Amino acid sequence: MKTGQINVQTENIFPIIKKFLYSDHEIFLRELVSNAVDASQKLNVLAKNGEFKGELGELKVEVILNKEDKTLTIRDRGIGMTADEIDKYINQIAFSGAEEFVQQYKGKEGAEQIIGHFGLGFYSAFMVAERVQIRTLSRHEGAQAVQWESNGSPEYTITEIDKSERGTDIILYINEESIEFLEKERIGGIISKYCKFLPIPVFFGTRTEYVDSPEGEKDEEGKVKRVAIDVPNQVNNVAPAWTKAPVDLSDEDYATFYRELYPATFDDPLFHIHLNVDYPFNLTGILYFPKIKENVEVQRNKINLYSNQVFITDSVAEIVPEFLTLLHGVIDSPDIPLNVSRSYLQSDGNVKKISAHITKKVADKLAEMFKKDRKDFEAKWDDLQLFVQYGVLSEEKFADKAKEFNLVKNTQNEYFTIAEYQEKVKALQTDKDNKLIVLYTSNPEDQFSFVKKAKERGYDVLHLDGPLASHWISKMEQSLEQVSFVRVDADSLDKLIKKTDEIPSKLSKEEEEKLKPVFESNVAKEKFTVQFESMSESEAPIIITQPEFIRRMMEQQRLGGAGFYGAFPEMYNLSVNANHPLVGTLLQKNEEEQQAITKQLVDLALLAQGMLKGEALDQFIQRNIEHIA
Ligand code: ADP
Repeated sequence: MKTGQINVQTENIFPIIKKFLYSDHEIFLRELVSNAVDASQKLNVLAKNGEFKGELGELKVEVILNKEDKTLTIRDRGIGMTADEIDKYINQIAFSGAEEFVQQYKGKEGAEQIIGHFGLGFYSAFMVAERVQIRTLSRHEGAQAVQWESNGSPEYTITEIDKSERGTDIILYINEESIEFLEKERIGGIISKYCKFLPIPVFFGTRTEYVDSPEGEKDEEGKVKRVAIDVPNQVNNVAPAWTKAPVDLSDEDYATFYRELYPATFDDPLFHIHLNVDYPFNLTGILYFPKIKENVEVQRNKINLYSNQVFITDSVAEIVPEFLTLLHGVIDSPDIPLNVSRSYLQSDGNVKKISAHITKKVADKLAEMFKKDRKDFEAKWDDLQLFVQYGVLSEEKFADKAKEFNLVKNTQNEYFTIAEYQEKVKALQTDKDNKLIVLYTSNPEDQFSFVKKAKERGYDVLHLDGPLASHWISKMEQSLEQVSFVRVDADSLDKLIKKTDEIPSKLSKEEEEKLKPVFESNVAKEKFTVQFESMSESEAPIIITQPEFIRRMMEQQRLGGAGFYGAFPEMYNLSVNANHPLVGTLLQKNEEEQQAITKQLVDLALLAQGMLKGEALDQFIQRNIEHIA
């Protein structure tokens, strides 16, 4: 037996490891299983290169829980270690053996698969264990098996032991504060989180079986007792879809993998992108486009980040642009630095390149789909719109590309690119100042009468809805020249698309002044501004409108979550059509008749905007019933 001091800079490294290295103690298991997988992969590499000539056998990793002994064992049949190797790789802890191995075998088949780079990986065992043993037999012929043991002080012992199977057992004697890691469910949960797609089979006793008691104990009736045992099951898929070549995968394979990633999701994704880059950085992965509903937050942050098939995190916000966090799927890259702070990550050169690459790929995919099968793309558009608008609003590069495939839909469910749409409407919807006016509705049902009037004049109306529409519209107005978007109910049509300078009014100023108080007495003053307008005779006698800029401001504040939108009063214009025959005849009526007619006209205008509610609506109905009788 040999004793020694682990070569650490300070005596106090263990408490530091325990408390601060990883706030999340559970990752010790990820580190140890990764090491076991590495050791197995290394043996594969050595065998392929002819440096290992023995029997490979079944290269698997087992996680064995023994609640009675309070131990957790991670067992592999990998390369093992000699006493010298333990000294080099374990006792000198600043040393990363994985790094050295990759350097040595660079370019050789399989070497890049090795996980490594985790630095203090093995020592994270001391976060949860009061004592750790390594029992290992090296791959070298005639090697002596050894056991290393340490109780978390810098002291260790090395002893020669009997061990017939090649490979390493890491045995953790779980400490008092960490007994949660002796629970089958807890360990099973950690394994399924981090090890689901590791490249070497991992086994854990997740299934319970009932067998005859091995000790032959008998029950009261004299029969052999049945006891429960945990049967090891393979818990991982060693070749997940993203590690395969796209040509080898069918649509069904992609769909199956999606369900493997998100067993609790019922919706199928719209389509996917398979990422595969090896220069200037390494990146593989599959991104899925979900059907994006109004409630974007629910769907956010479902991309899982892996490093050589080891799960790292499901929060990729620092790695991909914000709008891409709406996508689902997997990104696997050994080139994303893992042991750095999140804020540093964003400024890392590789991370920037990766982020730009993914953005480009996503835009390219959408452009390609649009070109290849426009009908199909249009069919998916309603589910895609929000994602594309989000991208257009947040990433200039994406916005640029999106010109090709950012569609708009009109109320007849026809789809256009922005350029196509400008062409379509410019003849009729260019105003006297040479501005192209795009009319839209956020809800064709609610704004029915406004949409109908616009169509009667030969205008086209877009259907633009969704939480980002108002921001997206502002962005379009900035990037397109001489184009304005206005909702159909923002003003009278003559005002929205001004053709001639003025339509002459049939009412004189004095007549307007006389009638104004009659209308004002029928609406809430603080909410409605009464004004006379000389519209076409075919327009309604009264229309209630809300100026485009006020409504958009309110919508944007609401989305921005700024609490002060309440400070913005809800204001409407009540525009009286001075040229409507009904308005003109009001002048000939007595006061009582004037009141009755105005009341009715105001209520009808409110009704057209869906604003006649509650008691006012009830009175309107009663009044009209009485009228019938
Ligand atoms: P890293 O994995 O980043 O190199 P670790 O502290 O986890 O850092 O491991 C240090 C070294 O110990 C590894 O590089 C490897 O050489 C050796 N090692 C750890 N676990 C095993 C194992 N199960 N089998 C063989 N060697 C191992």
